[in-house]
Amino acid sequence: MSFTLAIVGRPNVGKSTLFNRLVGKRLALVDDQPGVTRDLREGDARLGPLRFIAIDTAGLEDARDDSLQGRMRRLTERAVEMADICLFVVDARAGITPTDQIFAEILRRKNAHVILAANKAEGRAGEAGALEAYALGLGEPLRISAEHGEGMDDLYRVLEPLA
Ligand code: GDP
Ligand code: MG
Repeated sequence: MSFTLAIVGRPNVGKSTLFNRLVGKRLALVDDQPGVTRDLREGDARLGPLRFIAIDTAGLEDARDDSLQGRMRRLTERAVEMADICLFVVDARAGITPTDQIFAEILRRKNAHVILAANKAEGRAGEAGALEAYALGLGEPLRISAEHGEGMDDLYRVLEPLA
């Protein structure tokens, strides 16, 4: 038995960087629904000995501002429905924004199983942002750096019991 992990969060927090680290080139596009074609990427993820399906909510970056919020909501809800677990990524350097709060609300309302990750926390950067993330009420944030591969051991420890 394996599981499906949806990587969710507002644009620019590092979701795709993490997805690419986990999936490499083993990806497929999810294109069974008009309007969201190419907006969800699915791939065979590997983390140490773990194998699972990862979903990246892509396609948010080029949305027009006036449609961005609805689009983020639809895509995120769909990803949550497809997944067993959601990795909610925030930017530890930027701290928690009102848009992060919207995502937290979507995840709460959907009753999703959430793992919180404060990304861009390489070195000691993002200590304050990681602390702020506690206030989302979604548990202790994992401090990770998708770009530098830091915190992947902690992510493994959290995911391993779910496999
Ligand atoms: P997405 O919009 O959430 O998919 O975010 P991306 O993966 O496209 O990353 C957005 C920006 O953040 C890019 O410039 C990345 O290089 C940068 N980024 C991603 N992960 C990290 C990280 O761990 N540390 C730092 N410093 N930058 C990162
Ligand atoms: Mg992306």
